[in-house]
Amino acid sequence: MATSSTPKPTPPKLDPVRVPIVEEGPEERTKDFRTILHAYSREEAVLEAKRCIQCRRPWCVEACPITQDCREYIRLIAAEDFDGAARVTLRDDPLASSLCKVCYRYCEEYCVIAKKGVPIAIRHLKRAALDFGRTDLAYVPSQPKRERIAVVGAGPAGLMAAWELGVRGYAVTVFEREANVGGLVRTIPAYRMTDDDLQRDLARFRDLDVTFVRARRVGREPTVEALLEEGYAAVVLALGTPEHRVLGIPGEELPGVVPALGFLKAVHEGRPPPLGRTIVVVGGGDVAMDAVRTALRTAPGASVTLVYRRDRDEMPADREEVHEAEAEHVRFLFLRAPVRIAGSAHVEGLVVRTVELGPPDASGRRAPMPVAGSETTIPCDTVLVAVGQRTDLDGFETGLDLHVTSQGWPEGKGAGHATSHPRVFAVGGKSVVYAMGAATDAVQALDRALREQRGEPAAPRPDPLGGSEPSHLPAGYTKPIRS
Ligand SMILES: Cc1cc2nc3c(=O)[nH]c(=O)nc-3n(C[C@H](O)[C@H](O)[C@H](O)COP(=O)(O)OP(=O)(O)OC[C@H]3O[C@@H](n4cnc5c(N)ncnc54)[C@H](O)[C@@H]3O)c2cc1C
Ligand code: SF4
Ligand code: SF4
Repeated sequence: MATSSTPKPTPPKLDPVRVPIVEEGPEERTKDFRTILHAYSREEAVLEAKRCIQCRRPWCVEACPITQDCREYIRLIAAEDFDGAARVTLRDDPLASSLCKVCYRYCEEYCVIAKKGVPIAIRHLKRAALDFGRTDLAYVPSQPKRERIAVVGAGPAGLMAAWELGVRGYAVTVFEREANVGGLVRTIPAYRMTDDDLQRDLARFRDLDVTFVRARRVGREPTVEALLEEGYAAVVLALGTPEHRVLGIPGEELPGVVPALGFLKAVHEGRPPPLGRTIVVVGGGDVAMDAVRTALRTAPGASVTLVYRRDRDEMPADREEVHEAEAEHVRFLFLRAPVRIAGSAHVEGLVVRTVELGPPDASGRRAPMPVAGSETTIPCDTVLVAVGQRTDLDGFETGLDLHVTSQGWPEGKGAGHATSHPRVFAVGGKSVVYAMGAATDAVQALDRALREQRGEPAAPRPDPLGGSEPSHLPAGYTKPIRS
């Protein structure tokens, strides 16, 4: 026990400067879909990990929607134990090979080093853990349960639900309406993550009792009720937002107007549609950012302009991506609202009106107010529409009391995401890791309910890598932080 004569421990020295993450230069990288961020070497990763002061309260873990114990994998990297770091990473995160490239780094926003300098490169260190540690592992199911569970949708939420259920020993069938699994992850451009990353993650599911039924839409046939009657003990709906939103302005039916979601998916699948020479992308979110940058790469030499109805500071897109798009010479036009698309047989221009920002609207952001007489035409031959996604609830209209969020996905109520049917849950999220976190919450509620029926006490997730320690929150953890 400390006494007045015991010297106080010296606080760890804080190094505010991050070990640089080398980026492929804009001129080179826009020639193709090569990865932009270079990986750390072993030595760089160890140096960066040593900057972490191992906070007693792990802010970074509290800010991670899947409570990834990043503090611990960073500690292991600093000790040069890459196998240990990879194990910790994969223990908490079944989509780690994907997330180490595309997660929006909620943890880094809360890293205490950010108060004095650049936060620890927590996401990039996850990539180093997987690059240099042992990753050819397979998840281990615990004692098989007698219940079968249906998951509808194989995006990040559905995949996480399948994993959470699979490691608990449930037999899981995942119904996916598309021919491939991954959901919107399959629209993320290859310069950020490739399909191989997702396949590496899915390969670790191989010993779980998870069956994928592809190209099978649930809703009308089979209905959710039919799945329950067929013997599934519960259904997790992870329907996401597979459809694009439209602008709703005249001229949108013209050839040359292309939904950004379909465009990105086609490029991801290796069949890029032909674009013109003057491309305008409408939107200010991450999809718009991926669309402008993918357009640059698929239509070399074309001019690419992004049109957004608010200003730069109000753009919802990730700052890293805005900065990268600017470096790639995308032209940004802020405070312009689309009015109509001009052209007779094909797009010839986008007519926009200048707007000013007024008082905040229902979303809390300042509302764009049109300036009278300010219409101008931006000449172009292609308009990529990136103004959001929506869900498809055909066949789910009644009985479940689904709540559709402002960003478009349906979910249940409360912490466990229950619908009005006691055995049906509904989840989704604004990003890959948020969708995964919601699935974890729903499966915890579902597992608790099924255990109660069996007369068993609630239990935490078993170690998915076959160890004897069930999952628990790291020392010092207080409560989740949600961005
Ligand atoms: C272009 C783009 C780039 C993005 N970049 C990032 C990024 O870098 N980082 C990040 O964290 N997030 C990113 N996101 C967001 C992220 O992809 C989503 O938040 C996440 O995929 C949501 O997961 P989900 O499982 O809830 O839904 P989805 O990914 O939409 O998956 C839903 C799945 O359910 C299937 N489905 C729907 N209805 C049915 C039905 N009736 N029957 C059977 N199957 C059905 C769909 O086909 C789909 O596979 C990006 C999104 C887009 C569009
Ligand atoms: S999953 Fe995302 S938020 Fe969580 S630790 Fe990794 S980078 Fe951070
Ligand atoms: S908040 Fe930052 S410094 Fe603290 S443990 Fe997490 S990564 Fe390390």
